[in-house]
Amino acid sequence: MSSHISAEAARRRTFAVISHPDAGKSTITEALALHGRAISAAGAVHGKGDRKGVVSDWMSMEQDRGISITSAALQFEYRGCVVNLLDTPGHADFSEDTYRVLTAVDAAVMLLDAAKGLEPQTLKLFEVCRARRIPVITFINKWDRPAKDALELIEEIETRIGIKPTPVTWPVGVGGEFRGVIERIGFGERSERDGRRSGERSEPDGRRSGEWKEGRREAGPQVPGMVRYERSPGGQQSAIAEVLGEDEALERFGPDYERAREESELLSEVDADFDQKTFESGQTTPTLFGAALVHFGVGQLLDLLVDIAPSPFPREDAKGEPRDLESGFSGFVFKSQANMNASHRDQLAFIRVCSGRFERGMQVTQAQGGRTMSTKYAQTLFGSARDTVDEAWPGDIVGLVNATGLSVGDTIYAGKAVEYPPLPAFAPEHFGALQMHDTSKAKRFRRGIAQLDAEGVVQVLYSERRGDATPVLAAVGPLQFEVTTARLQAEFDVPATIDHLPYQLARLTDAEGAARLRTAPGVEVFSRPRDGAFLVALPNKYRIQTIENDYPGIVLEPLLAGG
Ligand code: GDP
Repeated sequence: MSSHISAEAARRRTFAVISHPDAGKSTITEALALHGRAISAAGAVHGKGDRKGVVSDWMSMEQDRGISITSAALQFEYRGCVVNLLDTPGHADFSEDTYRVLTAVDAAVMLLDAAKGLEPQTLKLFEVCRARRIPVITFINKWDRPAKDALELIEEIETRIGIKPTPVTWPVGVGGEFRGVIERIGFGERSERDGRRSGERSEPDGRRSGEWKEGRREAGPQVPGMVRYERSPGGQQSAIAEVLGEDEALERFGPDYERAREESELLSEVDADFDQKTFESGQTTPTLFGAALVHFGVGQLLDLLVDIAPSPFPREDAKGEPRDLESGFSGFVFKSQANMNASHRDQLAFIRVCSGRFERGMQVTQAQGGRTMSTKYAQTLFGSARDTVDEAWPGDIVGLVNATGLSVGDTIYAGKAVEYPPLPAFAPEHFGALQMHDTSKAKRFRRGIAQLDAEGVVQVLYSERRGDATPVLAAVGPLQFEVTTARLQAEFDVPATIDHLPYQLARLTDAEGAARLRTAPGVEVFSRPRDGAFLVALPNKYRIQTIENDYPGIVLEPLLAGG
């Protein structure tokens, strides 16, 4: 049994695709799913417009705006591996949710729009990945359209983010004239790649296996010339990819191919070649070029995930002790959501399995509070489709239905007790006082607030100044406020309004700092029941400086991301 757990963990790849909105996240999710044969037609899993969206219909607001608020996981098998692709919300206002999803992955794929390069959300997301030491693969998307210069993009990533890109493919042809790529490393089994139909080409002879790390999963041979792309006629479901030898590449794409080769050599000279160790430690980011819409480079991305992305490893508990994968089942809630779908009015807690084997129906203990519960209703969920899960392994995502009492960040386990560290709270940038006008509904109001706080919909804070009847909501994006008031109304029948407060950022302080700043002008001190922290809300960053001058020795620590 034990070695079976390790073997199952070793073939898991659990990751999320993250990007600034519009870079192509939904498009590449579909494309990856198609390559992994998880669904039968593009749009069935994830889409916009008149295609069926990934999102539940639990709130009309979501439909009105056409944005996706929920997250879940898509699972498929590829080359003997089980790929878990965690969905993240498309709208930047829900980035707190995205940040939490990142606590449940072992790697991330950062998508850039080739014409835009780094955008504000890209910078923040890279920052979160760096802080959490999540290895990042970068996919430069939309190369079928006019784009920035490839070398310029590489330099932009290195100088602005401080992570060195190590391109594993390099484009032949500038943006908009995408001929194909040079492969700078060997990729996995070639037959599975890029939707290539068998018989379209024969394997060139005499290639050696790409061995860049001892004991690594096997990579395929490195292509000596280039991989040429062509749109498949009539459909968007796959691209035609064909391996060209050097001579043929030169003959057909002479100047473009030569330029790509020269640039690739230049990259080697500046040490921008793939390295497993620095990738895993977050110092380098293997980078690919492609176009998700026409499936260029998507197969390579999937191969790369299987070849190089880390499989689940023993996660550290709250005391910093790694929990062996072979220990009994354990996992933590990274997302909790109520009433996702009108036809399933229930509460789902999404668990990332960290160790052991999960078996539906098993009794588990909630580390926070010591309660035991049954897991009779366990599901996987992506989009509107739900499937019952019977077993799951480290790296997998399980949705527990009607898991009331489980909050975001809670640990559950069977056997030897364990408690994982609480999820980080992310830096809020918007603050609003929640006003409830019907005092006869005070009890329901409190229940609603507690529920939404447990789900992590918004951060709930209290200040002495306002008292317990007027909680202050803190959010990374203002749409979180709208979700809060809409759900208070819909699910708890409590009308409430938000008065926006003139604060833009927050710092953590200690009990002493909280006491000293209670009467400081222009700022407000809050307690956060979720984790017992004290937050100081400030109107702008200059006020931090003046506070530090006026209150020598005061503790003001930044929160993760943005703040
Ligand atoms: P998201 O907001 O990141 O999920 O982005 P979407 O997947 O919805 O894509 C945003 C827009 O970019 C859509 O109109 C897509 O069709 C388009 N798009 C995505 N990938 C590509 C690509 O590789 N090439 C081109 N030309 N357009 C793309």
